[in-house]
Amino acid sequence: MADSPVELPSRLAILPFRNKVLLPGAIVRIRCTNPSSVKLVEQELWQKEEKGLIGVLPVRDSETAAVGSLLSPGVGSDSGEGGSKAGGSAGESSKQDAKNGKEPIHWHSKGVAARALHLSRGVEKPSGRVTYSVVLEGLCRFSVQELSARGSYHVARVSRLDMTKTELEQAEQDPDLIALSRQFKATAMELISVLEQKQKTVGRTKVLLDTVPVYRLADIFVASFEISFEEQLLMLDSVDLKVRLSKATELVDRHLQSILVAEKITQKVEGQLSKSQKEFLLRQQMRAIKEELGDNDDDEDDAAALERKMQNAGMPANIWKHAQRELRRLRKMQPQQPGYSSSRAYLELLADLPWQKVSEERELDLRAAKESLDRDHYGLTKVKQRIIEYLAVRKLKPDARGPVLCFVGPPGVGKTSLASSIAKALNRKFIRISLGGVKDEADIRGHRRTYIGSMPGRLIDGLKRVSVSNPVMLLDEIDKTGSDVRGDPASALLEVLDPEQNKTFNDHYLNVPFDLSKVIFVATANRMQPIPPPLLDRMEVIELPGYTPEEKLKIAMKHLVPRVLEQHGLSSAYLQIPEATVKLIIERYTREAGVRNLERNLAALARAAAVKVAEQVNTLRLGKEIQPITTTLLDSRLADGGEVEMEVIPMGHDISNTYENPSPLIVDEGMLEKVLGPPRFDDREAADRVASPGVSVGLVWTSFGGEVQFVEATAMVGKGDLHLTGQLGDVIKESAQLALTWVRARAADLNLSPTSDINLLESHDIHIHFPAGAVPKDGPSAGVTLVTSLVSLFSNRKVRADTAMTGEMTLRGLVLPVGGVKDKVLAAHRYGIRRVILPERNLKDLTEVPSPILSGMEILLVKRIEEVLDHAFEGGCPLRSRSKL
Ligand code: ADP
Repeated sequence: MADSPVELPSRLAILPFRNKVLLPGAIVRIRCTNPSSVKLVEQELWQKEEKGLIGVLPVRDSETAAVGSLLSPGVGSDSGEGGSKAGGSAGESSKQDAKNGKEPIHWHSKGVAARALHLSRGVEKPSGRVTYSVVLEGLCRFSVQELSARGSYHVARVSRLDMTKTELEQAEQDPDLIALSRQFKATAMELISVLEQKQKTVGRTKVLLDTVPVYRLADIFVASFEISFEEQLLMLDSVDLKVRLSKATELVDRHLQSILVAEKITQKVEGQLSKSQKEFLLRQQMRAIKEELGDNDDDEDDAAALERKMQNAGMPANIWKHAQRELRRLRKMQPQQPGYSSSRAYLELLADLPWQKVSEERELDLRAAKESLDRDHYGLTKVKQRIIEYLAVRKLKPDARGPVLCFVGPPGVGKTSLASSIAKALNRKFIRISLGGVKDEADIRGHRRTYIGSMPGRLIDGLKRVSVSNPVMLLDEIDKTGSDVRGDPASALLEVLDPEQNKTFNDHYLNVPFDLSKVIFVATANRMQPIPPPLLDRMEVIELPGYTPEEKLKIAMKHLVPRVLEQHGLSSAYLQIPEATVKLIIERYTREAGVRNLERNLAALARAAAVKVAEQVNTLRLGKEIQPITTTLLDSRLADGGEVEMEVIPMGHDISNTYENPSPLIVDEGMLEKVLGPPRFDDREAADRVASPGVSVGLVWTSFGGEVQFVEATAMVGKGDLHLTGQLGDVIKESAQLALTWVRARAADLNLSPTSDINLLESHDIHIHFPAGAVPKDGPSAGVTLVTSLVSLFSNRKVRADTAMTGEMTLRGLVLPVGGVKDKVLAAHRYGIRRVILPERNLKDLTEVPSPILSGMEILLVKRIEEVLDHAFEGGCPLRSRSKL
């Protein structure tokens, strides 16, 4: 640290310092890239043997004056003595126009003489431009007397501003200055001690405080902070020592305060952190203390509650042991630990399962059961009889292992509701397990607990929900389970239904055997065929083939309408759906074997009525003066047409209390159309569809019961290929091939080709389509329909619209019997088709068809395909006249 006096020459080359100030005692690195400052450095510093001083003069932001950038400011050692002159006015910028008419540079009037501590020269690569990097140390202040250009840079005539040694010595006697110095030093010391706590390197600064004169210290300290350009200028202008010291004290103090505030904030944050850590530690200690005292804390309570629950669950001894082992493991775990919650959920399941709990089975009263069945279900005499028999056997031998009842039939025929009636009769709880779409064995048996998110299977889950071990469990849609790579649900079900095995049913998640033998299983299926034979073997199938329109009407009037009204908070005082209207709904809006859509449509009517009634209630409440501003909601809904799907309005209050309804709303044909939209079906459909040759009416059997299925055939120029569309299975494709072969083989007999428009044997492709392409179809029973359709096409004659048919056909033209005759006849009846062609050997099945239906229909029994053709066309087989068949 040089403390020698500085010889200030009268002229100094001036390096402009843009928006920055070099204070005495500070050291900066400046990179000079601007041609004028490069020139200056080159001439004044680089080329001179004896490095002289240059003046660093702050320049206010001005476009042309840029010379370099501050790279690394730092606190430097001090140097030199003060100058000869004290005082000087506060810095005002002097303006001088630069050469060559450039923008005026805003020079500051005071600067600092500096000496170069280090110089390095560089050449920029592509341009070859020379640049310098200069490390400068500020020495003493000067004031600019006159600024002039020397070549491309400026030179100034300068005068010294710092005091001489003697002046200084005198000034130091000034008591004000002494007081100011002391104050500055105290503040500086405080700052240093604060910094010292943070970093260890401030030791050197402390030494500075003792060795360097206070007025230089002021500059050095201030130069080390980041302060604004304006404040730096003020500091530079503070030539007077008192002014400088008080300014410096102010700045140091501000810096100190900002550090302290920052410190406080960090401390606060740290304090919070350590608070939670402290809490954690305290909790740990508390736990330890409680353990010592034999006390339980919250988690312990939780585990204890779980244990109590498990004790009450009445588990078998071996399972209780297993549960305790798991509980011990849980107790050792922290609640935050992975695995805690899954372990807890498992124990919870063990505690919730009905190991012993049963619903009391009261003495079975068969008559009451029968009455209850009759009350809830119309018709179904045979089915009810079978259920009563089943119950009677159970009464005589409660642990009898009779077969599992399986209701088979289309949707909405009352399978579920019959099963729940059985539960009611036995006074047991009822639980429905849906098996539709179950392809994974794990759905039945659960996932092992090693899997993340593993769960028990549906059966165990159902038992947990129903919380008794002897419910009536409905295995719904047992025909819809399939098997794939994930195992075979059917084999798991086999175990469930096998009385030998279900005593120790093993759910993978539960991992301990559970006794299912007390459960009464009932199953439902839409069709028998997809049920795997071993499973079918365990069950007794009860078929519910669907209802006739008359039966539906009775069901609707006796059961559905009252139920729907009640569900919507209505009674016959508000809404009446007359029998004639229900009949219309059955005929025009539903064409199903069951009554589910019928019920849905009735509900739609009830909702619409509920809106109207509720609105009237509201209007009444509004009083006389206030008019309701909305148009009646019902009317606006009705205007939309289509099936109205409205929210059910909760009718928490009893309407009759608030609203005296003088005349009930009666649903007539008009309202029917408004609410349900235009009729979906009419009797003319078949006639419209068979309006052109090539279309015939078949009867098929689907999971929704019997259905009318049209078959369309057409021919076009081609190579004699057969195209088939409409989601067909292999069997039906074969039937089509067979039908075409039969017709072609008989072409000569039928005398088809020469006179017919279409040459059957060559040059034409045949395309057969089964409409409703999204519905998968299969089975051999379309054989006769296919032949009829082809003959109609080739003979260019229309098939009778009032005739539907079903029957398998052999290559030789024999018609074989088919299944589902009752459903098919009922389907034809629903469509308004009154003539049905059936294989003769299906005669016996006709006894199942209700006689009122049968009596209104013409059933034509046939042995051979030729007879089918005879019946299917007006005036007999169109081809027969030309040949002897
Ligand atoms: P499934 O289980 O066969 O699909 P549901 O048992 O769910 O059909 O029956 C649908 C609705 O029809 C239920 O509200 C049911 O009460 C009613 N239902 C069906 N058949 C009858 C019937 N014979 N008598 C009275 N209501 C019936």
